[in-house]
Amino acid sequence: MKVLKFGGTSVGTIESLRNVKEIVESNTERTVVVVSALGGLTDRLIETAKKAERGDESYREEIVAMKTRHTDIIEALVPEEQRGDLLKDVDLLFSQLERTYTGICLLEELSCRSLDKVVSFGERLSSRIVTRIITGARLFDSLTFIKTLRRFDRHVLDNDITLQLIDSAFGDCDFQIAVVPGFISTDSNGVITNLGRGGSDYTAAILAAALNASSLEIWTDVDGFMTADPRLIPDAKVIPALSFTEAMELCNFGAKVIYPPTIYPVFHKNIPIFIKNTFNPSAPGTRIHDVRNRNGEPVDAKGVTSLAATSLLTIEAQENIRSKVLNILSRSGVSVLLATPTDESNRISYSIASSEIELARTALETEFYAEIETGEMTPVRIEEELSTVAIVADDLKNNIEISQRVSKAMNASDLDIRAWTVAAPETSISLVVKKDDRCRALQLLHNEFFS
Ligand code: ASP
Ligand code: MG
Repeated sequence: MKVLKFGGTSVGTIESLRNVKEIVESNTERTVVVVSALGGLTDRLIETAKKAERGDESYREEIVAMKTRHTDIIEALVPEEQRGDLLKDVDLLFSQLERTYTGICLLEELSCRSLDKVVSFGERLSSRIVTRIITGARLFDSLTFIKTLRRFDRHVLDNDITLQLIDSAFGDCDFQIAVVPGFISTDSNGVITNLGRGGSDYTAAILAAALNASSLEIWTDVDGFMTADPRLIPDAKVIPALSFTEAMELCNFGAKVIYPPTIYPVFHKNIPIFIKNTFNPSAPGTRIHDVRNRNGEPVDAKGVTSLAATSLLTIEAQENIRSKVLNILSRSGVSVLLATPTDESNRISYSIASSEIELARTALETEFYAEIETGEMTPVRIEEELSTVAIVADDLKNNIEISQRVSKAMNASDLDIRAWTVAAPETSISLVVKKDDRCRALQLLHNEFFS
């Protein structure tokens, strides 16, 4: 059995849905198809909810436009004799959506719970339509088997219950093609929730792991992971294969190809992921697979990546203070991209996204208020207008040649490198440079390894 996930652009237009139909129907294995909402629809549902919250009655026109988009697809792609029930379902969903918006408009209040309900209509609609477009497909409703728990102010997967429920929903079922709405879920009270923006990939991974699929295919609108962002580096190429950890590292650095939590469930079960392009199905794509038994074989650099707006936070303090920093930052919701090795004056620097730097400063100044007063720790210093550039490859500890080539390329350039390190778990080498030098640093590294 295989799990195929189609993103918003893949299910967004009549033409792209023709490709989806062809791709799915040409499979001979049993297939679970997970779908996103029509491209752009989730954003539009949210914007319309905000309109209703402001008391702006034009939300009604938005509903009409959204409905037309769906019915146009049905008229173009669903055989006439099968349209009746589907159009009734779509009508019903849109009248529920309208009632939800009316409630928001009357109360002039948009709670998280209402918003979760509003966005759920996207996948509920697209999955019903895709089921009718694909010959022989059957709809499975993820609201009944993907379950979430509340953690702080977020919904997280309730793994044990979800596994049991998937097992009973699919276990004895005789199907050749199952269609499942991605992203959406319910909590233990049956209230609609979701797995977070981009969460359809995660739904697909959860199903692939639970059903012991032979592979997970993520069908999107690019040919795969790239050696660099092609908007910045025109000669970027598709990466043919990545390990699970390399893919995670690229995601941590903001690669938008898949939703990061997607990797864990399939990594755990060693199910390979294939990134494929719905608009170029014959392209090989990127394979993400297990390479734990590499036996010391040399690895190649896989890609260069960067975060444009980062800042460097520097402190000087003894080890007993320094050792607490990462924990405090992570508890405050700050992700550290890089920590430099400590120098002889006990100085250490952390590269952090600029959007999180004030949070980081406050967290450390609050925690170490007394130590800063007594001089055991210097006040927090922050350098802004920086970018963090990284090169990703597995097992860098045992492949020092890659680090050597990075140093050589950087030394030969006139780039002002503010900090650099090989990051745990040794899957990336990161460099902090001035913001204006970001593209130059990326190009230099890309030339060194991929040209
Ligand atoms: N439709 C949802 C979103 O736009 C989930 C997804 O597409 O993965 O975030
Ligand atoms: Mg996505």
